[in-house]
Amino acid sequence: MKPSITLLAGLLLVHLAFAQRTILYCGRLIDPKSGQVSTEVSVVVSGGSIAAVQKGYLAASSGDKVIDLKARTVLPGLIDSHVHLEHETSPNAQLLGFTTSAAEGALQSTVYARTTLMAGFTTVRDVGGTGVNIALRNAINKGIVVGPRMLTAGKIISSTGGHADPTHGYREGLYAEPSYTETVADGKDACIKAVRQMYKEGADLIKITASGGVLSLEKDGSGAQFSEEELQAIVATAKDYGMRVAAHAHGAEAMKRAIRAGVTSIEHGTFMDDETIDLFKKYGVWLVPTIIAGKSVSDSALKPGYFPPIIAGKALAIGTKIQATFAKAYKAGVKIAFGTDAGVYAHGKNWMEFVYMTEAGIPAMEALKCATANAAELLGLSDRVGSLEAGKLADIIAVDGDPMRDIHAMGQVRFVMKEGVVYREE
Ligand SMILES: [Zn+2]
Repeated sequence: MKPSITLLAGLLLVHLAFAQRTILYCGRLIDPKSGQVSTEVSVVVSGGSIAAVQKGYLAASSGDKVIDLKARTVLPGLIDSHVHLEHETSPNAQLLGFTTSAAEGALQSTVYARTTLMAGFTTVRDVGGTGVNIALRNAINKGIVVGPRMLTAGKIISSTGGHADPTHGYREGLYAEPSYTETVADGKDACIKAVRQMYKEGADLIKITASGGVLSLEKDGSGAQFSEEELQAIVATAKDYGMRVAAHAHGAEAMKRAIRAGVTSIEHGTFMDDETIDLFKKYGVWLVPTIIAGKSVSDSALKPGYFPPIIAGKALAIGTKIQATFAKAYKAGVKIAFGTDAGVYAHGKNWMEFVYMTEAGIPAMEALKCATANAAELLGLSDRVGSLEAGKLADIIAVDGDPMRDIHAMGQVRFVMKEGVVYREE
């Protein structure tokens, strides 16, 4: 059959549309993966991906779109490995749990998603909410909502009375007893079921609370909350379904159990001892430090009435220690991926983590690598994001100033491109 003229013309148009290039003239370009800073570079974007990165300002052909970032510093889109896009800190957090509908929460989450993208974070890993985060990810993928590329854990798997048991601290009768659908699980079988439930609901990864935590109405913020047997069942089941496991843990015993069971990352890691550091290195487990969360909860705890007393005490005991732990772990050679616990503080301030990381002694380039190449590896997305190289998705940002001289430049985002689409240009 001979193809018609209209079909050929259509194919030609499609071809032209894909062939249309955007050329970014980058005054300064930082590539944290290689540790290189270059000046006067062109990044050529075509069809959502990076086609080339070339020295000098490439001459544009007719039909090329040129974006002038000669006065700016260009970086790969940033990755935050620990966010909660459904929520934001509030002195009324407990009350809001009773008065906010799922629909209201969903609408609010779209605002947090947009704020996060505009702050230069083109990819995030959402590590727990009510399950609205799964719908949010789908809406972003469909182009209905503006936001970062999302991996999501859906709901957090917790033991009864654990950090993510959604009914902990409330008087009996307000709720039915939570189950694996919530996902509160005790014992090996329930843990297996909870992981499968999350797979069924559409999670990309599994998040567990291996220890107690700060912002729940429980008295202990660091003790172990899953047995070795439960942890092994969770990790083995997640592996069967192609999912990695992120473990929230403050206490050393909880971290040791989780690392031995095979989790991919430990979130927070506050009370790690030398033995725990050795285990991190032996098993190649990532630490996601969330220093800003520690700082932010301990600051809030000093405001009278911001938290109930049971939370305020833990916030002061745990929050103030996270930065020193991060410094120790980094110096010891533990693998670090950038993550902030956004939602525990106001969304969009994620960049402040860079300030706290460098304050703790990590070089600026290394901190940027944690939020690009390292986080991409933790998320299993290294083939698509985390560096500015031909073939990678065109996730590109630009800031005013030079983060190598003053890391506060990371708070001056002026340009955001995600998969070749410009979302912010000033
Ligand atoms: Zn968190």
